[in-house]
Amino acid sequence: MDFELTEEQKMFQSMLRDFVDNEVAPNAAAWDESEEFPTDAIHKMTELGLFGLHLPEEYGGSGDDLTFVLACEELARGSGGLSSIYITTVSLAIGPIVMFGNEAQKRTYIPRVANEGATVAFALTEAMAGSDVAALDTRYLREDDHFVLNGTKIFITNGAEADFLVAFATRDKSLGYKGISAFIIDRNAPGFSVGKLEKKMGLHPASAAELVFDNCKVPAANLLGEEGQGFKVALRAIDSCRVSIAAQSVGLAQAAYDAAVAYAKERKQFGVEIARHQGIQFMIADMAVDLDAARLLTYRAAWQQQQTGEVSAKEPSMAKLFASEAAHRIAHKAIQVHGGYGYTKEFAVERIYRDQRIMELFEGTSEMQRWTIARQITGLK
Ligand SMILES: Cc1cc2nc3c(=O)[nH]c(=O)nc-3n(C[C@H](O)[C@H](O)[C@H](O)COP(=O)(O)OP(=O)(O)OC[C@H]3O[C@@H](n4cnc5c(N)ncnc54)[C@H](O)[C@@H]3O)c2cc1C
Repeated sequence: MDFELTEEQKMFQSMLRDFVDNEVAPNAAAWDESEEFPTDAIHKMTELGLFGLHLPEEYGGSGDDLTFVLACEELARGSGGLSSIYITTVSLAIGPIVMFGNEAQKRTYIPRVANEGATVAFALTEAMAGSDVAALDTRYLREDDHFVLNGTKIFITNGAEADFLVAFATRDKSLGYKGISAFIIDRNAPGFSVGKLEKKMGLHPASAAELVFDNCKVPAANLLGEEGQGFKVALRAIDSCRVSIAAQSVGLAQAAYDAAVAYAKERKQFGVEIARHQGIQFMIADMAVDLDAARLLTYRAAWQQQQTGEVSAKEPSMAKLFASEAAHRIAHKAIQVHGGYGYTKEFAVERIYRDQRIMELFEGTSEMQRWTIARQITGLK
């Protein structure tokens, strides 16, 4: 076994750490407060080539799965919200076009992300279709050379800013998952609009928007994959994005851990640094073990993906499940180490605690991950 990163990966990690320490982390609290989309940071990330990572070279991309995971982790260490905007674009939302797009679609859309840092959204969830995605109710029908979509999506990350999105609709609900198709929708498509923006607990710089399709006209050329293949498109996109949510959890956990260790060595109570009290030492040790285990599971899943070129269902689910729940435990302890100060906005752990909570919910809740893992183990559907 070789746990060493390559020289190239180490150089990339070090460059990214500088960027995160100097240009992301110092702004994270202000972005959280203003809830504004961090346009300047997105421009700088485009210049650094971060939006091309993980995308095919022939369409302007570069980098391997592990390098991409390092980027997700580092960005999340600086800002959970910024990392969510990034991961949604580069993995969840453009992923379906990479995996199922035809040549013309790939040539049109992938370079816009890789070279121009376009923002993309993935619109699947609806009011009555969350974990049970096949229950979606947005309808489509074909008319001449275009499709017409009607329905409403909710909670869509990047929904308010997306330059284009991948959306899912059904031809006939009675067909179940076989009726679902995927479409690429341009932001200015007639009949498309952004509705309510959620006021949420964390990830404030990333929007979670309602998207409305009101007789939305989509050219036939924007059908993604074959008609009736949408359910597969959605599941493959979610599967292949899972490891990046694990990495995001690791980055948030690292930030909470770093803050807790630094504070414990500084803060004095009963005449000594609190890090000298065994109760605090035990929390630090538990955080370190959780963080290491989460990182190892995450890197293993990315490494396996890189070696095989396949996305397995089990290992990324294990990594996402463990890392997201570890991030929760670590953020909880980090606040405990800070005492009452950790409950105030003066300290980053308050924001990190709010940002990490969603990791156990989106891209498949922890219950869905356990279900996936158990089905892989037992072979029972
Ligand atoms: C900030 C944010 C960003 C998001 N971004 C996007 C996005 O970009 N695109 C998108 O399409 N969606 C997005 N979502 C939606 C997200 O993926 C869903 O919220 C998530 O899949 C859960 O669906 P739900 O909220 O309807 O919960 P439900 O499915 O209603 O689940 C409620 C509870 O029941 C449990 N449960 C459900 N079914 C079972 C079962 N069979 N066995 C055991 N337990 C079960 C769940 O685990 C959960 O604990 C986002 C959500 C949020 C909050």
